[in-house]
Amino acid sequence: MKVLKFGGTSVGSAQRMQLVLEIITASAEPKVIVLSAVSGTTNKLVAIGDLLLAKKISKANASIKALAEEYQLFIASLLSQPSLVEKAKTIVENSFSLMRNYLNYPFGRSKNNELVAQGELMSTNLFNLFLEEHGVKSKLVLALDYVHLSGEGEPVVKDISQKLNAIIQEDKEHNLFITQGFICLNHEGDIDNLKRGGSDYSASLIGAALKADEIQIWTDIDGMHNNDPRVVNATKAIKHLSFDEAAELAYFGAKILHPATILPAQEAAVPVRLKNTMQPQAEGTLIDKNAENREVKAVAAKDGITAIKIKSSRMLLAHGFLLKIFQIFDAYKTPIDLVTTSEIAVSLTIDDTTHLPKITKELEQLGMVEIDGNQSIICLVGNFILKNSEVIKNLFHSIEELPVRMISLGGSKNNISLLIPTKFKLQALKNINQGVFGM
Ligand code: ADP
Ligand code: ASP
Ligand code: MG
Repeated sequence: MKVLKFGGTSVGSAQRMQLVLEIITASAEPKVIVLSAVSGTTNKLVAIGDLLLAKKISKANASIKALAEEYQLFIASLLSQPSLVEKAKTIVENSFSLMRNYLNYPFGRSKNNELVAQGELMSTNLFNLFLEEHGVKSKLVLALDYVHLSGEGEPVVKDISQKLNAIIQEDKEHNLFITQGFICLNHEGDIDNLKRGGSDYSASLIGAALKADEIQIWTDIDGMHNNDPRVVNATKAIKHLSFDEAAELAYFGAKILHPATILPAQEAAVPVRLKNTMQPQAEGTLIDKNAENREVKAVAAKDGITAIKIKSSRMLLAHGFLLKIFQIFDAYKTPIDLVTTSEIAVSLTIDDTTHLPKITKELEQLGMVEIDGNQSIICLVGNFILKNSEVIKNLFHSIEELPVRMISLGGSKNNISLLIPTKFKLQALKNINQGVFGM
């Protein structure tokens, strides 16, 4: 069994769906196909949700109408058999009539999640009909039937495993199962989701639950690149990454993977392969348990970081000070990313500032607190050797003229992280591309 996930651009048009069909029918082995919404749809649904929440009803109505028209055109380009066209229209109309209903009733968070879920519900239904039109036998499986969140908002892995395995094993007729990424039910039984970009995470959870041979993430680029291709010109695909290296890159901003994607696959020891739907012959990136000794692999950057410095002479020769600081963050369920310390100060970073005012107030009991927003973490990933390291020498040389605020090295041998104001991020990524990767 393999699990293949196709992102929004991979299902963004009839031509792209044709490419997906070719990829998934190239071999006869059983497969679960996880699909995102058609590219652009989730953004539009989120925008409609925002209008509804702001009670801008006529604007919301106009946006719903415009999106419904796009889907009529999509169906016309995708299907030609009249019975399948009719089925597709009915499915899409169900989604849009649900959306139009929101215009007349109070609209809140759970309705918003139901609204956003229509993207994946429509794309999977349409793709399933497209396969039918081309004589490919497939079974549509509803993610809401097996991906459930616990009270803490975490996917219940045991449920996915039991429920999905049962669905697949009972079905002796099919070896191609189509399902939605991203969407799930929460512990109250309402529709919810795994956060933006969450279809990658769905694929990994499904692959782990089924103990698949491989999880493939098909997208619009030929694998994980050594630097962010959206902002740096010369980047190249990395052939191989260990789970740890890929997890660091995903967590620290490499948008090709949702931050949580790697863990389920890693725990179940299922390799992950990143592939390009538009260039299936390209090798892509293989992610598995093997680490190589090549020192530096890639750099990624994560924005929206806030730095907090706590300064106190009481820290000198005292113990328990760090504990007190960490307890405050823990009490507010706020994860810390980077930490650096000196004898009289601690600097750390967070990206969730929901409870920052309360956290600050408590930290002020311990010392002087300084807060800087608009920071970025630049994270260099590889398998670092700290002795006589050319990479570290080149890294420091690359950033010597930039206002680096924190440096974290030695926490793990896979990661060197720097904190800089976001306005210097681009320069840092470019300098590192040149100085460290020689590109
Ligand atoms: P999908 O819709 O298929 O999930 P995404 O847009 O979420 O695709 O992810 C693919 C995009 O990630 C690429 O088009 C690329 O611009 C961006 N990206 C950012 N950092 C990297 C990186 N280090 N390597 C590859 N792609 C990256
Ligand atoms: N459709 C969702 C999004 O755009 C999930 C995904 O594509 O992974 O965020
Ligand atoms: Mg994505």
